[in-house]
This record gives sequence, C-alpha cells and structure tokens, in this order.
Amino acid sequence: MKRTIFMALFFIAILTPHTVSASSAFFEQTVNVRSQASISSTIIAQVHQGDKATIMEKQDDWLYVELATGEKGWVASRYARLTTDTENEQTIQSTVSDLQVRSGPGKEYKTLGSISQDSEWNVLRSEGDWISIDYNGQTGWVASWLVNSASQENEQLSGTNKEVMTRLLNVREMPGTENRILSQLPSGSVVEEMKTENNWSFIRYANGQTGWVDSTYLKNTDKKEEEGFATILYHATNLRSGPGLSYRVIEQAATHERYQIVEMEGNWYRILLSDGRTAYVADWVVTTASKLSTSPAFNSGKTVVLDAGHGGFDSGALGVTTLEKILTLKTTTSIAEKLKNAGVEVILTRNDDTFISLAERTMTSERYQADAFISIHFDSTVDPTANGTTTYYYEDGDMPLATAIHTEIGDDTSLRDRGIRFGNYYVLRNNQQPSVLLELGFLSNPWEEQLVNRAAYQNNITTEISNGILTFLE
Ligand SMILES: [Zn+2]
Repeated sequence: MKRTIFMALFFIAILTPHTVSASSAFFEQTVNVRSQASISSTIIAQVHQGDKATIMEKQDDWLYVELATGEKGWVASRYARLTTDTENEQTIQSTVSDLQVRSGPGKEYKTLGSISQDSEWNVLRSEGDWISIDYNGQTGWVASWLVNSASQENEQLSGTNKEVMTRLLNVREMPGTENRILSQLPSGSVVEEMKTENNWSFIRYANGQTGWVDSTYLKNTDKKEEEGFATILYHATNLRSGPGLSYRVIEQAATHERYQIVEMEGNWYRILLSDGRTAYVADWVVTTASKLSTSPAFNSGKTVVLDAGHGGFDSGALGVTTLEKILTLKTTTSIAEKLKNAGVEVILTRNDDTFISLAERTMTSERYQADAFISIHFDSTVDPTANGTTTYYYEDGDMPLATAIHTEIGDDTSLRDRGIRFGNYYVLRNNQQPSVLLELGFLSNPWEEQLVNRAAYQNNITTEISNGILTFLE
C-alpha cells in the first residue's frame, strides 16, 4: 500500500507567511488600481474578486502590481492577499469526504460549503492551524489537520499503530465530543495515531483519511493496518445503493468475493465495484483482516440469538400474577446458560427489563449472522381454557429449526402440543436467519399460568429447547 504520510505540523511550518516569498497578490473584492501610492491619485484600472496580479514593488501600505492585462499600477495592500510564486503554487486535498469550508480560521465561523475528498484547491495562506483556500473565488478556511498537501513532497512520517477497543469509535472533525462525526470505526480496526492532545488522538485510518478520536478507546497493538478489503461471507449478499437495508440492491455478491473499502458509514462499508461504481455492504456480512484476527470465535463457533419477548413498558400478556415480559426473560436466561455450557456463543436481544423494538431484535439476528434465532413468548387469549405450546415458523428455511425444537417440546407431556404453525410475526418475517417463535403456555389460563411458573417446568422446557437447538446446529 502506497503511504504518503503527512504531518500537519510540518505542513503548517512550510506555509507560514514568514517563510514564503510572496510575489503575487490575490483579490477578494473590487479594488481600484491607481497611478500613485495614494488614494488621491488617478484610478487607472480595477481588479475584481478572484483576480491575481504580480507584485513588482512594495511601498508602505501599497503594492505596485502588474495586472493580467499588462497594465501596471498601485493598490492598497490591505485589499490584497499575498500568495506564493505561481510556478510553485501550494495546493491541498481534503482527507475527508466532505470537509467543511468556513468563512474564517476557526470552527466558530460559518460554513460556506464543503469540498470533496481528493479535489485539489489552491492555498492562499495559513493562520494558526487553519489554511485559507481559493474556494470558487471566495476565501474559505479549512482545518489543516484534515488536508494533505497535493503537490508538495511530504515528509514521510508514520505514527503508532493502535487498535480500536470499543464497539464503534466515533471519528470526529476536531477534538471534543461536540464536534461533527466523520466516520465510525468498528472494534478491532487498526489506526495510526499521529499525535495526541488532551486525551484526543489525531489518527489516520482507511485510505489516508484523518480525524480525532477519544484516546481512551485506543490500545497499542502489533497488528498492521488492514489493507482495506472486505470479503463477502455469505452467498448472494446484497450490495446496495446506500448505507441501509432500505436502499436499492445494485447487485449480489458471491461468497469469498473481495472488494476494496472506500469508507465506512455507520455499520456499512462503501466498496469499490470492478466497473468503478461504488456500493454499500453491511459490515456484518463481510470480514476484513482485522475482524478475523480479533474475533476468531465469530467464525469458528455457532451463534444463537435468543429473544425474550416484550420488555420495559411493553409487558406482553398478563396472567393473574405473571407479567409475560418477566417470565420470557427468566426462560431465555436459562436457555442461554444451557447453550453456553455446550460451547455455543449466545447473544440476548435484551438481558434486563427494557423495551427493545422488533426491528432491533431482527437487526441483532442479522448483525451476528445468527445460526438460529429463537423468540420466547407466553400466550394469551380470551378463552381461559385455551392451553398448550406452539412452535411458529414463517418460511420454509425456518422448518429445520422449528422441527428440531418441536421434536423436543412436543414430547413434553406436561402441556398440550399445539404443533408447528405458520406465524406472520415481524421477528420471523424480517429475519434472514433461521428463526422460530415459541409460545410456551397460556398465561390467560389460570391453571397453566401456575404450571409455567414452576421451577420444574422451567427446567424441563429450557432443557428441551436448548437440546432442540443443539440438534439443529449439528
Ligand atoms: Zn408475547
């Protein structure tokens, strides 16, 4: 990988006005050109916003300039910006996808617009950590640490490799949590820490982009920065026009196909297709070098997502003394323990009494590419005599899992077997993984409510369910 490492401080040093011999004047407004170095002298021409002139001589507050037309005259120097030699013009490129251009040298100035990554801009001058550019005829200011020098030979400096230690690390435009988020880096990403300032690290990451992250979430690592390729884990993986499931599918990728990562947006990678177009793929259906080395368990073991129905303000069914949301959590926790003892990686959609949306539940299933998703519920209906357990599936792909679990719980003689049934439930319908929803008895039936709360029933049913899941995983 070609590495043009660039040190912001070095760049600022070469741009400092004292070290630049200015030979051109650049104008941001209409300025009169006079015959003498005095405001009382004759106006012989005018220069306009965006015009440039060659400086021939300086005298106090005046510049003797040669205009593009060949005319020569005097202009008040306060109306001119001094720039470097035209043959040796400084240019910069943004290292972020849309770098904000401001009206002054600081983030408190208003935003004039933004410039795209890799577009080239002429530098006018620098002030502190800010660089002014010729922004379509206006003077715009950009943060020096978010740009690269495009034409200069840069000092080849490298930082320290660090690894991201939190699930998603925000990369910000500037140090401080109030600043704009440029990108998010998943756990295990390797970045290059260029410098630190008050517990904020200035980093370089994928494709030379730069930004600031909270230093707390970085640790030293021996790992090398990943090459920036995403490898597809699953057959017929959707590549979309935008970073979300609602975007159009552009094409499908086969297992093991490899794409260059352009950038990361939330949990989505923007990748480069062979024809030069870009597309988005979800990070949970691909692997990158860093992912493989940090989470071997992710690929080697089996992952089961257990979903305790309801939670928080959503109590679910109500028995005489039972809240469905409490019982589902208890049952789910017990199944989880049994599966973990068998070496399965178990993910719970909730592990306390909080409200989780149905969409979040299915997203958890997709995110972990669950080998099985099981949603646990207890039933309720107006008929107080209704009783029994039901195994719901939504599509044919769910049947092997439904059958394996039903074989176990259907044999349980303590409750009536209501069989395997089609169920148009959100968590099944919107789940690409093998998924079932279990109704483990009626809370609206007072006798059954008592039974399902008993330790013996809980112990039996959770053993049966976990055995069914283990049979399915084999
Ligand atoms: Zn329920």
